Amino acid sequence: MTASTVLIESPREAADLLRGGGLVAFPTETVFGLGVDATNDEAVQKLFVAKGRPSSNPLIVHVADAGRWSDAAAMLTPSAEVLLAEFAPGPLTVVLPKRAEVSSLVTAGLGTVGLRIPDHPIAAEIIRLAGRPIAAPSANRSGRPSGTRWRSVLEDLDGRVDAVVQQDGPSLGLESTVVDCTGPIATVLRPGAVTTEQIRRILPDVREIVSAANRCDQPVVLSPGTLHPHYQPHASVHLVDSPTSISVARGDRAAYCGLLPVDTPDSLAMHAVYSTVGEYAAAFYEFLREADRNEVTTIYVQLAPDEGIGHALRDRQLRAAGER
Ligand code: AMP
Ligand code: MG
Repeated sequence: MTASTVLIESPREAADLLRGGGLVAFPTETVFGLGVDATNDEAVQKLFVAKGRPSSNPLIVHVADAGRWSDAAAMLTPSAEVLLAEFAPGPLTVVLPKRAEVSSLVTAGLGTVGLRIPDHPIAAEIIRLAGRPIAAPSANRSGRPSGTRWRSVLEDLDGRVDAVVQQDGPSLGLESTVVDCTGPIATVLRPGAVTTEQIRRILPDVREIVSAANRCDQPVVLSPGTLHPHYQPHASVHLVDSPTSISVARGDRAAYCGLLPVDTPDSLAMHAVYSTVGEYAAAFYEFLREADRNEVTTIYVQLAPDEGIGHALRDRQLRAAGER
């Protein structure tokens, strides 16, 4: 385990640490990623320990631009090719046959790899300078809400990783859309900012597997990571259709976030009302973390509308409220 974590700003410094087998958290356009050299078994093993991540949950491998896909994957399938042409760089991960050099710890022993090209100048520069594929799961302790601010990353990982890039910026706030491109029909395994409707415009047959939160009946686990408890604050999360259904019990420290304004803000320790679903998605994880910092015991979360990025936000909300 790493004794002290340094805050850095230079992509060169981050790349050098990664080349030496270090763990470095950096911002991307989705959430912060915790990067590691995807070809270095020992370093990858350290990453699973640092996050407390089950070894059965594979990591997404990042390359600097679409032309570098062969750093991570053995081949491009037709569906991956059209998806990358349309959405790379961007918040999309395509699952493809794995390249032999990628550590099998990264892929949890699967013959496939999740490939992503982040649309973020710092992330792209770090990966380009590192000169190798970089595995990067979200930079948080396993099960916790993902980090979208460097301070939140440090809150979870101080003393467990080598460095955190001290740079906040606008982010989408939700992890990438994961699409399995290995079969004849592309399949959305995890919803994200690239919506299934957008994908359907170029791949009319695309399917989506049932929301992870309702997945118990799923016979085959396609994306192992989606089964683990995820995105959960310490407070208990209650999903509501509207804030009118909130009734705060005596002695409860409650919080509310959503799109509709709340009538009784005085009964709440915290509340936040967003004017668009995009703003709600961008702020959601940080709201959960802020509630924990304020020792809130119950968070009332207004369910996002099930369309556009709201579909992905809803998926995370259901999982934040899920069984522990
Ligand atoms: P995270 O890194 O925390 O954003 O989670 C990565 C997600 O990508 C998890 O849901 C994984 O199950 C999924 N994933 C990564 N690699 C693969 C793969 N080879 N096949 C299927 N799903 C994958
Ligand atoms: Mg994660």
